Amino acid sequence: MYDIIVIGSGPAGLTAALYAGRANKSVLVIEKGAFGGQITLSPKVENIPGFTALSGNEFADKMVEQVLAQGADFESEEVLELKPTDEGWTVVTDFGSHEGRTVILATGAKHRTLGLPNEEALIGNGISFCAVCDGAFFKNKTVGVVGGGNSALQEALLLSELAAKVYVIQDLDFLTGEQKMQDLLLAKDNVEVMTGTVVSAYLGETELTGVQLHNQQSGVESALSVDGLFLAVGMVPQNDPFAAFADLNDYGYITADESCTTKTTGLFVAGDCRTKAIRQVATAAADGAVAALAACRYLDN
Ligand code: FAD
Repeated sequence: MYDIIVIGSGPAGLTAALYAGRANKSVLVIEKGAFGGQITLSPKVENIPGFTALSGNEFADKMVEQVLAQGADFESEEVLELKPTDEGWTVVTDFGSHEGRTVILATGAKHRTLGLPNEEALIGNGISFCAVCDGAFFKNKTVGVVGGGNSALQEALLLSELAAKVYVIQDLDFLTGEQKMQDLLLAKDNVEVMTGTVVSAYLGETELTGVQLHNQQSGVESALSVDGLFLAVGMVPQNDPFAAFADLNDYGYITADESCTTKTTGLFVAGDCRTKAIRQVATAAADGAVAALAACRYLDN
């Protein structure tokens, strides 16, 4: 039986594991995807204290190394369910189950899709969420990026170094990402920003060949040929398996304040998966520390 089981290995989960390990608690971290979480998708991170710039993968490696050194165990499994027991929790995964006295939910969020017909079939066949992972497939080709926030601009900037042409397709009439990134992007010769424009359909049956666009002002529909399309339209939390023990808001985020506690004793929450104003590495890490220390206090009392 572990003292603390952490679900999710992003900055929140790994910081929780770090603090718990340093408090001499036995810790298991369970991760269904990439160790390090969402930040592994970022080619360059410039706002982590202590590092001028490093890739998300480099940062993830450093976090994992640091937590391993504290003696935490790791499992590559997906948590499907929590079951309360007399001593704490049974954490049920796709490979089996684990026992823990306390659980910290640090499940972050995942990419939102457009919900258009045939989307499922085209993901991985022209539709991607990660320029750093898939951008090289589109060297000297034409790609679209859907979205206008920081993530979309970051994807577009990276793609502009590889692709022949990059269209940034944004439904609002303006971009919402940082001005510095907008300026960098707009200075690129091979980037065209299309605001007030919605992707209304995917073209291509088994492989994406283009998109149908709807101009919101004129109502005109047009076809745009692209070899690849990168969706950067936000994130959705993955908290449904825990809804019996933690309140979720209308968007599926776990309702919790800075104390990182849930409505259930022995169950804590940290990072992007909870209600909060700012979702960043720094705020996720802060939550991880708070949740771990709250779990330690609960165990010690
Ligand atoms: P996550 O990083 O989302 O980690 C949660 C983990 O939980 C995931 O790995 C997921 O697979 C796992 N998980 C979920 N459900 C289960 C389950 N049932 N079982 C097992 N595992 C599960 N922030 C910055 O501060 N600076 C940046 O420059 C920056 N750039 C970014 C660029 C991109 C492309 C993206 C996508 C995000 C960026 N962010 C950046 C945001 C930052 O990555 C997040 O705020 C941060 O990763 C949140 O950490 P977290 O630990 O809460 O969640």
